[in-house]
Amino acid sequence: MNSPVRAWGAVGGEPRFLVRGRGAYVWDADGNEYVDLVCAFGPLIAGHAHPDVLHALSNAARRGTGFGAPNPVEIELAEAIVEAFASMEKVRLVTSGTEATMTALRIARGATGRARIIKFDGNYHGHNDGLLVRAGSGSATLGVPSSAGVPEGISELTSVVDYNDIEGLEASLRADPPPAAVIVEPVAANMGVVPPVPGFLEKVVELAHEVGALVIFDEVISGFRVARGGAQERYGVHADITCLGKVIGGGLPVAAVGGRAEYIDLLAPTGPVYQAGTLSGNPVACTAGRETVRLLDEAAYATLESRGERLENGLREIIASSGVEVCVQRVGSLMTLFFGVSEVRDFRDASATDTAAFARFFRKMIDGGINIAPSQFEAWFLSLAHGDAEIDRILEVAAHALSS
Ligand SMILES: *Cc1c(COP(=O)(O)O)cnc(C)c1O
Repeated sequence: MNSPVRAWGAVGGEPRFLVRGRGAYVWDADGNEYVDLVCAFGPLIAGHAHPDVLHALSNAARRGTGFGAPNPVEIELAEAIVEAFASMEKVRLVTSGTEATMTALRIARGATGRARIIKFDGNYHGHNDGLLVRAGSGSATLGVPSSAGVPEGISELTSVVDYNDIEGLEASLRADPPPAAVIVEPVAANMGVVPPVPGFLEKVVELAHEVGALVIFDEVISGFRVARGGAQERYGVHADITCLGKVIGGGLPVAAVGGRAEYIDLLAPTGPVYQAGTLSGNPVACTAGRETVRLLDEAAYATLESRGERLENGLREIIASSGVEVCVQRVGSLMTLFFGVSEVRDFRDASATDTAAFARFFRKMIDGGINIAPSQFEAWFLSLAHGDAEIDRILEVAAHALSS
């Protein structure tokens, strides 16, 4: 297991080894077929093995797999990103979301000369020392609030506030020492899907700026997912620094940190904040990202929205007639079914879910040929390849799974 969120400890049974994917489907080593709602934990918004992406990838690989020098593809991907996000003038490409958030914090600290960071309970920002405090799905599934091996001197620089809690945030922002930044998942998707309550994101920006702190939106999941310009486009707010990952690599390792030029210019070689990466801007990886984001026009987002709506409505009907207590929370093509609760607004609500009921549901979904992540605290990801037939199949299996 090379990433703990793939383990089945919380649901029981043996993880399937997946050997092939195409469109909305994956196959395991025993030849079983599944409709895939994991989509590699988000990157595969165009579905598995999209022909345009594969074609461009094989051409790119034939030209060479890396140069350690600037190449045109990384510029094309960077231009697509900057065009999609009104708050980004410049962007630095990196290799993982963890690296993106690590760099974002360093920029914020470099820009403000302050050390303290504020994050939200249940938001996940990768496995950086300073951000592994009350960090959502992985630690929630394993039942540990934060990681061993993080020196107290580092974790004490991180303050944690409840998601969607404006008063809590305001108090933390005004506390001493003054914070360098607030980092937030503008659509929380690592404690299950939890949308920001109306006005929350606007307040985060307004209050942070009042005390001279930067606002970092971690859009590693929501970027190019809930709209082309991410949550910032969907909700009409702007961050100072934005982190991207997942979709912008189209299944290969690409992530990014971007923002206004005054911040990104702080990075080496133009500025004093050090950051580097042997594989940053890798031409093969950037080709997968560039081809994937090329497929994401307005029509693509309308499709994702309507498929998400159809799946949500179908699930709601099933839930209403089955009488089980499950709530569905969805933002575009991201959704979660929370068992045993009526609404989830923060990590405390998420922690009150009935994980045993989720585990029973999970086993029935898998046995019925629907691949969902093995945790109550993860999102379902729809792709452009999930059509009516796949949604019908998901609903049919879910109806059975929720009926008994
Ligand atoms: C996945 C994720 C990360 C970490 O990205 P990696 O590429 O796994 O390091 C960071 N933030 C959010 C919101 C994520 O969903």
